[in-house]
Amino acid sequence: MKFVTYFYQNKEAVGILKEEEKAVFPLPFADMDTLIQTSKENLQLAVKEAESSIPLVDVTLLAPIPRPRQDIICLGINYKAHAEEAERYSEEAFKKERPIPIYFSKRVTEAVAPEGFIESHPGLVERLDYEAELAVVIGKIARNVRAEEAEDYIFGYTVLNDVSARLLQTTNKQWYFGKSLDGFTPMGPCITTADEISFPPALHICSRVNGELRQDSVTDLLITSIPDIIEELSSGMTLLPGTVIATGTPAGVGMGFDPPKFLKRGDVVECSIEGIGTLRNTVR
Ligand code: MG
Repeated sequence: MKFVTYFYQNKEAVGILKEEEKAVFPLPFADMDTLIQTSKENLQLAVKEAESSIPLVDVTLLAPIPRPRQDIICLGINYKAHAEEAERYSEEAFKKERPIPIYFSKRVTEAVAPEGFIESHPGLVERLDYEAELAVVIGKIARNVRAEEAEDYIFGYTVLNDVSARLLQTTNKQWYFGKSLDGFTPMGPCITTADEISFPPALHICSRVNGELRQDSVTDLLITSIPDIIEELSSGMTLLPGTVIATGTPAGVGMGFDPPKFLKRGDVVECSIEGIGTLRNTVR
């Protein structure tokens, strides 16, 4: 199933995407966090009873979790080829012994809608960059989860663009600020439920800027796998339902090119993952 958050007739609502993704069937939950926390039985019942639909063209899709309750947990440098390009760009900022995972967080006051705008923050941000990522959405309280059981704790997956201000990221020696600006987290277009994707996910992931292919990889090339991430984090940190974990980006980000290809106003960035969909955002 594919769940979406959308805006229709001056209201935000959640629904299920059906009929070849041409219609949204509204569901009776206050928001996506509530939907995620609903028992499987109640969710199945609500899906079954959802009979009326709205044409997709009549709604505005929002990020599936527009206002995450907690910061997004991110993995840095989690694809081998991206590790190499980042190190070429700034050895001091990115060189790390591997495979110890790099965790950082990303504040998201409001996630950017699937067709929304990436903010360029003129005067503050130089070297604006994109990072297409597979994001895991946790479905139930996770504490001391073993890697073999990790799949049971995943509600679904979405696409996330971990927009980054490289100059802030490298000069601050700490990634939080340069990753957390307003308009830096496009997410969506939907959450595809875990039962629709084989585990661990081996999905084609790519990004394009103004139509030019930049990133092109598969999501099973992670240095630290999704089961290992969930096992390690939950060993000392409770993961609540609705937690979003961005699993890292493959090679082909702007800083990876020589000369670098950073974003500028007017650029259109598309991040796509097989089985989930495409985020298409314009830099303004
Ligand atoms: Mg990232």
